[in-house]
Amino acid sequence: MIGAIAARFNSLSVLGQACAIVAAATIGADLLTLVFYAIFFSDRLLLDLLLTSLIVVAVAFPLSYFFMGRSARLVDLAAELDRANRLDDLTGLTNRRTFLVEARKLIAAAHESAGMLLFIDADHFKVINDRHGHAMGDAVLREVGAALKSCIAEADLAGRLGGEEFVVLLRGACHEKAALVCERLRRKVRAISGIVGLSGRDVTISIGVSKHQPGQDLDALLLAADRNLYVAKTSGRDRIVHADGKLAAA
Ligand code: GH3
Ligand code: MG
Ligand code: MG
Repeated sequence: MIGAIAARFNSLSVLGQACAIVAAATIGADLLTLVFYAIFFSDRLLLDLLLTSLIVVAVAFPLSYFFMGRSARLVDLAAELDRANRLDDLTGLTNRRTFLVEARKLIAAAHESAGMLLFIDADHFKVINDRHGHAMGDAVLREVGAALKSCIAEADLAGRLGGEEFVVLLRGACHEKAALVCERLRRKVRAISGIVGLSGRDVTISIGVSKHQPGQDLDALLLAADRNLYVAKTSGRDRIVHADGKLAAA
C-alpha cells in the first residue's frame, strides 16, 4: 500500500508532487485543528479551520515546490552522469570500460559459447583527419557507430574501444551470422563518404573475427580477433578475416 503510494508520488511532475505534499499537510493540520477545537473552542471551529488551511498552503506550497524541483534536477543529473560514465559521447556506443565489464559478465554467464567477437578498425583513418580535418573525422566515426548499431540486434553488445577501433559481441551467434553482419557493416561503411560529403575515396574498415570457446576469457577472445584484424590489414584492408582464418575480400 505504502509502496504503491510512493510509486504514484514519484510518477508525478514536480508541480504534482508539490500539490500532493500541500494537500497532505493541509489535511494533517486541519485534522489536528479539528481535534484541538472540538475539545476547547467548538464555536470558532469553521473559521479557524479555514485560516489554518490558508496558512499551511501559503507556507508549504513554495517550500515543497522548491525542494521537489531540486530533487528532480538531482535525479536528471544522476542519469546524465551515469550516461557519461557508461557511453562514448561521440558515437553513443558503450565506452571501452563498460564494454569490457559487460562482455566479461556475458562471457561468465554463457553456458557454452558466448558468441562471435568482431574487432573493427577504420582504414587509413589518419589520412581522413589530415586531409579533411578532425571534425570530418569525428563525423565519420559517428556514422560508423550508427552503421554498427543498425547492423546488430538489441541483445548484442557494441562498443568503441578508442580512436577508430570498435568491437562487437554478437551474442550466441555462429560463423554464418557473423559473416552476414560483417559484410552488411562493410557495405554500410562504404556509403559513409556520401553521407558526410567526403570526397576522394570511400571510408573502409577491416574486421577480425573470433569465436568464443567455452571457458575462454575475454582477453584471449579479443586477442584472437585482433590477430585476424592484423591479417585483414596486412592483406590490403577493406577485408574481413573470419574466426576460421578465411579471408573475405571486397
Ligand atoms: P590503419 O589502416 O593501419 O588502421 O591506419 P589508421 O590511419 O587508421 O591508423 P592510425 O593508428 O595510424 O591512426 C588513427 C588515427 O585516429 C590517429 C588519430 O588522430 C585518430 N583519432 C583517434 N581518435 C579520434 C577521434 O576521436 N576523432 C578523430 N577525428 N580522430 C581520432
Ligand atoms: Mg585504423
Ligand atoms: Mg587503430
